[in-house]
Amino acid sequence: MTRPGLLDAASAAQIEAEASLEAKKLIAQTGKLSQLNTRFEIALNNMARGLSMFDADGCLIVCNALYRQLYDLPEALTQPGTPLSRIIAYHAAKEGCPNTVDDLRRQQNWIEQQTAELKHGTTFTHTHHLSDGRIILVTVQPLQEGGWVDIQEDVTAETEAQERIAWLARHCPLTEVANRFHLRETLEEAIQRLGSSKKLAVHLIDLDYFKQVNDTLGHAAGDAVLKAVAKRMRATLRDNDFVGRVGGDEFAIVQTDVAGPAQAAILAERLVRTLNAPYRVLGADAGIGASVGIAIAPDHGQDADALLRKADMALYRVKTCGRGSSYIYKSEDEAMALERMELTSALKDALHSGQLAIHYQPIVDVKAGTVTGCEALMRWRHPRLGLVPPSTFIPIAERSGLIFSLGEWTLHRACEDAAAWPSGLKVAVNLSAVQFDHGDLDTIVLSALGASGLDPRRLEIEITESALLRSEARTFEMLERLRALGVQLVLDDFGTGFASLNYLRTFAFDKIKIDQSFVGEITDQRDRMAIVGAVTGLARTLGIGPVAEGVEGLEQLEGMVVAGCQEMQGFYFGQPVPSFEVEAAVVACVDKLAQMTKPTALPQ
Ligand code: C2E
Ligand code: MG
Ligand code: MG
Repeated sequence: MTRPGLLDAASAAQIEAEASLEAKKLIAQTGKLSQLNTRFEIALNNMARGLSMFDADGCLIVCNALYRQLYDLPEALTQPGTPLSRIIAYHAAKEGCPNTVDDLRRQQNWIEQQTAELKHGTTFTHTHHLSDGRIILVTVQPLQEGGWVDIQEDVTAETEAQERIAWLARHCPLTEVANRFHLRETLEEAIQRLGSSKKLAVHLIDLDYFKQVNDTLGHAAGDAVLKAVAKRMRATLRDNDFVGRVGGDEFAIVQTDVAGPAQAAILAERLVRTLNAPYRVLGADAGIGASVGIAIAPDHGQDADALLRKADMALYRVKTCGRGSSYIYKSEDEAMALERMELTSALKDALHSGQLAIHYQPIVDVKAGTVTGCEALMRWRHPRLGLVPPSTFIPIAERSGLIFSLGEWTLHRACEDAAAWPSGLKVAVNLSAVQFDHGDLDTIVLSALGASGLDPRRLEIEITESALLRSEARTFEMLERLRALGVQLVLDDFGTGFASLNYLRTFAFDKIKIDQSFVGEITDQRDRMAIVGAVTGLARTLGIGPVAEGVEGLEQLEGMVVAGCQEMQGFYFGQPVPSFEVEAAVVACVDKLAQMTKPTALPQ
């Protein structure tokens, strides 16, 4: 028989030992558990996303530090057991919602919706837009035993980047107005919305002399002007009008709810005035102008492309007939544009099919009684249209780029012809502003001189003020290079631009040609005569020879002599003639000069 006490004692010891072993195991396990917990907590709190776990009753089981941070929750609201409704109410109050009964009901609805969603058992997402601008993407994952896990991610930067990319695809980043694509789309939508009694206007705006700002003040100043232009435009428009930048210095406006052309013209004129006001950019003053071409829907077209094309035709018309104003498309402009297109293609063939020629008009020195040279003037005889005037085809050649080959041909031809003339005769060749855009003009002139053997001093290059306006710095640099070749430089059509006198001071031209508009009206305009007198006086002071253009009669001749002009050109002395008639024209001129009763006022 076993002694119960002993047995008891043995078993007590055993039990104690066992209990102690159990206790040690438990301690070890608890230790492991708390170690596990600590690790779990570390992991949780080091997650890059916010996490919260709720039970089936919508009470918090656990959340990490980032969750607390994202919503700026106090410690007390992140304790296990906290109902989601309380967290939401706190958050709503912080976001500025008053937590009224209505508000709380709305929050409750939201929780119910979310709980209903959970029943599908699949993950779903939603975004919170916080009042401080942050955007939080929440991924909700239902748990098998009920409840859910939320993963919260701050996607503000990512969303903003995506929004920026989408914005950039539709806007000009510099001026922040719509780009061509967006404008076209908006125009198309506006046309679709047009009721039967409504109209809309498309304004195409081109900045005059913008290139000059870029070239003289630099691109940073050019950019600043463009920004200012966009700002002024926005300030001029109503809320429902739309502005876009459709090219380098070209903008477009969609004006909605327009009663008729008059209303569109009023806006265009306001735009011209507003954009014309001086700009102060980067410490310098900049001046530009604006020309506006207008097309109206549905009158001129019912789709975006047709309207933009017609506004462009109207703009072309403004640019050729005087900048700084606006013009509404007319149906005859279509014919003009078509003609322009046809003429462009005909002009392409003209050079190769011998339709182009150069005629020469004598330039005389009335004091010396001699012919000093001839101006080379291009002529185009079209097989069907007959003689097409340079005022028509030169702008076409300039716009199409044909001017480069035409200009080069003229230089070669004129130098070749002049090389055969008596050595006292010079030849004056007109260069278009566009020809200065390529940097090889001096090489072309040099090659024409080289091929013909003409003495460079016998070649005069005529450029108009518009050439100088286009790109002053680059043009003056090229003029210096041309001067270095030994050719003479002439400022043509003097007096037609607004900065004429400035150019005389900044660049030493060898001659200036006083525009025929001054000469033509000299007999009936005393003040014009005074201007010519002042100009010739200034020219003489600067050592520049003035030449009067367009002298048609004796009265004008005498007027110009009185004004102090010695060199002249005009129908009075001779029309432009083909090369083979130059000799006869010169002889006729000299005869005329010799027979002329010497005007009394002629300088002796
Ligand atoms: P421009 O250089 O000022 O040439 C003078 C224009 O006045 C010529 O017109 C000439 O025929 C005309 N003219 C001459 N005397 C008189 C006159 O007494 N009365 C009137 N009313 N007109 C007179 P054209 O030949 O029609 O040329 C017009 C313009 O076309 C030229 O003006 C010039 O700017 C441009 N042009 C002509 N040929 C060329 C060329 O080869 N290249 C370039 N780039 N432009 C040219
Ligand atoms: Mg000329
Ligand atoms: Mg001229």
